[in-house]
Amino acid sequence: MRSITRAAFRPYICPSCRHGIGAGRRQLRTQAAQSAEIYDVVCVGGGPAGLGLLAALRASPITSKLKVALVESQDLGKARGWNLDSSQFSNRVSSLTPSSVDFLQKIGAWEHLDTDRVQNYQEMQVWDGETGSRISFDRSSETPAFEDLQTVASMTENANLVRGLLRRIEASGDENLTLFSNHTVASIENGSDLQAEGPDLSAWPILSVKPTGPNAETLAPTRIAARLLVGADGINSPVRSFADIPTQGWDYNRHGIVATLALADLDPATLSNTRTAYQRFLPSLGGPIALLPLPNNHATLVWSTRPEHAAYLKSLPTPAFIAMVNAAFSLSMTDLSYMMGISQSSSDQTSHEDELNWRLQHTPQPSHIPPKAIGVQEGTVASFPLRFRHAAQYISPRIALVGDAAHVIHPLAGQGLNLGLADVAALSRTIEYAVSHGMDIGDLLTLERYSSERYLPNAKIGGACDLLHKMYSVTGQGPITWARSLGLEVIDRLPFVKSFLMKNAEGY
Ligand SMILES: Cc1cc2nc3c(=O)[nH]c(=O)nc-3n(C[C@H](O)[C@H](O)[C@H](O)COP(=O)(O)OP(=O)(O)OC[C@H]3O[C@@H](n4cnc5c(N)ncnc54)[C@H](O)[C@@H]3O)c2cc1C
Repeated sequence: MRSITRAAFRPYICPSCRHGIGAGRRQLRTQAAQSAEIYDVVCVGGGPAGLGLLAALRASPITSKLKVALVESQDLGKARGWNLDSSQFSNRVSSLTPSSVDFLQKIGAWEHLDTDRVQNYQEMQVWDGETGSRISFDRSSETPAFEDLQTVASMTENANLVRGLLRRIEASGDENLTLFSNHTVASIENGSDLQAEGPDLSAWPILSVKPTGPNAETLAPTRIAARLLVGADGINSPVRSFADIPTQGWDYNRHGIVATLALADLDPATLSNTRTAYQRFLPSLGGPIALLPLPNNHATLVWSTRPEHAAYLKSLPTPAFIAMVNAAFSLSMTDLSYMMGISQSSSDQTSHEDELNWRLQHTPQPSHIPPKAIGVQEGTVASFPLRFRHAAQYISPRIALVGDAAHVIHPLAGQGLNLGLADVAALSRTIEYAVSHGMDIGDLLTLERYSSERYLPNAKIGGACDLLHKMYSVTGQGPITWARSLGLEVIDRLPFVKSFLMKNAEGY
């Protein structure tokens, strides 16, 4: 880790507000002589991590009176008003581990979610499309310590979570709380020139936040000073830039395709008792396909694949897209690779559905494949580039990073948001400790507590996901393929190792 010095700060100027860096700096200096509204905590980013932090601070009697501000460039009013018919689901869904759900319950946010839209699952089937080796997880085979814990994860739409967190925050009243919705960070600078009565702001981050949207140019920016500035502002974090904290990482050259699917009817007994998540690794296509259950016989798809395959899949008409999803769970890698190349333009080509049905007649079907996809909700097929990033440090004087601003990982284990919520839980505990012990919440010594709790666990999980991605991107008969196959088979036969893996995946 890099050593942390105050000299590391450099003014952050939003790229779209920059008219030449020199002009920007001059402008900053003029502004610095003006006054700024003082807050205890300023959080940039109103995604699940930022809102989770605010909700946690407002929920604790020790921190609820802190003066806090949230700056979010999107319209929080839209997030608050999010509403979908019960037969429709957003395509951005996360599998929340039991420990994330515990945290949300503890801070009183879970009760503000629409839990009819949340789907728990109790079983997982994970297998290698190339070697066929498989591992299955279910709670019934667990050690007695886990007997009372039936849920592996809870599938929750991100929009449902964000709306629930907003409701929780607003239920705590608006005293000492300012939400800068539709505002972006125009600049962040060190308050060295700031003239203010009260605390010495010379080393405090001073933000200039300005409205976004129509007529934004005519509106004046607001200046706010932060005793503690939290970057919950995602992968391109302006707060991280201001603190001059570098990241390590790489782009996977993979895209995650997401979609909301309707499934064929399930056996009613299965429906009432147990829901299952399915993941099949497809090494020759560059990553796994996962089908995770949603209520009412729906499922969310996350298919990590090469950009050219993602572009091909997105270009398909709906019936062909559905055929490809079913093929990815049920055909051999050779058949699947063939189908990935069927031309759309040539009229004498057989359709994807015909091709799938013909090939299925000659492919033995194992019992662990998911129910067939029979529909795709309109407008839900989308893709996201997959990346790995890890900030060199999470803290600087008066700065803390949480969530994707601190780490972005491969989604194959569904852990990114869970790590972000664990960060928020740890940071809110750190702030609580500092307040109750009369410490300065922005002091580096205070923040060390947060960083030492979160840096290594995040590095461990991000590294494990990266390793899995790399292992399952290797095709052919080499030692990695052999080790991969042996690994899953051996783990599947060792209940204690499985239990350990489950424990880690669930955040306990
Ligand atoms: C395909 C896919 C599937 C995934 N599945 C899972 C899963 O199953 N489980 C799981 O745990 N995780 C999953 N993840 C990861 C998860 O989605 C992210 O980790 C999580 O959404 C990050 O939340 P965040 O609040 O840290 O950041 P974001 O959600 O990126 O929020 C950052 C916020 O900051 C705001 N912002 C940025 N810049 C500024 C600025 N200058 N001024 C003001 N506001 C600003 C943005 O508008 C945004 O609202 C998945 C990711 C992908 C790509």
